[in-house]
Amino acid sequence: MAARLELEELAGILRKRICPDCACRSGEPTCGLEDQTRCRLFQLFPLVAQAILATDGDDLESYLRAVDENVCSVCMDQALDGTCARRATGCALDGRLREVVDAINAATGRTFRVGPQP
Ligand code: SF4
Ligand code: SF4
Repeated sequence: MAARLELEELAGILRKRICPDCACRSGEPTCGLEDQTRCRLFQLFPLVAQAILATDGDDLESYLRAVDENVCSVCMDQALDGTCARRATGCALDGRLREVVDAINAATGRTFRVGPQP
């Protein structure tokens, strides 16, 4: 697993790539969640990175499963029945997972790419 400083660097790379055109910003310069306490992607980032780095291959479904099992399972937005209302209304981790995976894989020198949205 990456050291703490490396995780922070990785989160910084993700911020540059994901935040500028995140739907949560609604055209504003910030989304109000950048303090990392409410954006689940960054609040749970150590678990996100761990789940993605523990998964191999170019299949998005495998990453989705890994995030479901290791991140959503401990997220406060997930209900006891496993559903998540925020998934529909906008969770950057869920909505941008393809880019999150590709950015983490690229930044850590892995060759796996899940590729652009079909
Ligand atoms: S919701 Fe998260 S990913 Fe989106 S702009 Fe805010 S901090 Fe960035
Ligand atoms: S999809 Fe829902 S449960 Fe999963 S990280 Fe996002 S807000 Fe949390």
